Amino acid sequence: MIVTRFAPSPNGPLHLGHAYSAIVAHDLAKARGGRFLLRIEDIDGARSRPELAEAFRADLAWLGLEWEEVPAQSTRVTAYAQAAEWLRREGLLYPCRCTRAEIAAAATEGGPDGPVYPGTCRGTPVDHAAAAWRLDVAEALRRTGPLTWLDERAGEQAARPELLGDVVLVRREAETPASYHLAVTIDDSADGVTLVTRGIDLFPATHVHRLLQALLDLPVPAWHHHPLLLDETGTKLAKRRGSPSLVDRRRAGEDGRALADLLRAGRLPAGITLGEGLDRVP
Ligand code: GLU
Repeated sequence: MIVTRFAPSPNGPLHLGHAYSAIVAHDLAKARGGRFLLRIEDIDGARSRPELAEAFRADLAWLGLEWEEVPAQSTRVTAYAQAAEWLRREGLLYPCRCTRAEIAAAATEGGPDGPVYPGTCRGTPVDHAAAAWRLDVAEALRRTGPLTWLDERAGEQAARPELLGDVVLVRREAETPASYHLAVTIDDSADGVTLVTRGIDLFPATHVHRLLQALLDLPVPAWHHHPLLLDETGTKLAKRRGSPSLVDRRRAGEDGRALADLLRAGRLPAGITLGEGLDRVP
């Protein structure tokens, strides 16, 4: 059975881009008689605002969606810690205390998420206290061999986690025990997700998730990376650029089901376009 999910982070209100993402995941599951899950990604203790989760549920209901909610990330901290410990014992993680500025200064390559960490701390003794733990991607790939994954829209992909460099899997902040990459990979497996549906901006991250699945012996889903809604400047809609939130629209009395149907039909509000983006995907 197909299982999709919508996995918002409660660090700001949902906007039209989120609505589109939730509708795509919902409709893909429902069209094939499957299940659509909601998972609150509240691993980032410093930025999470628990009260937003309730607004997210109200937004989804307003759009006319039906979902099953699965445990939020904050309930799964032990599973993340166990996976990290196993990877550490296998010699696949190493501690790093480099700051963002140090990485920016040392990096020679740009990746999809900014400067690629150049491996400064790999193989050097680093004080573990308050260190982040990074995945030794070259060593990990030596263990797994070449990997592939399937995107329903873009076709079969060779996994290229090296595009993102040695990503952080355990963050240095004690209140944020796992990075997005580790948490989302474990969660999608624990929740039985068979089709990971999300925006195309997360396409490069999938290379890392596929590698983690191989290392942790997790089932391999398929992916569906959908185009993003763009604003007048061709930039991804974002909370910080003030596109109206779903809460604002809901409180203003707009009909959420009608809005969802317009998004489904590709009839977008003025100034908003649906990007394609596959040509820009690494
Ligand atoms: N929590 C992420 C976000 O809100 C989405 C993660 C995912 O879909 O894999 O951007």
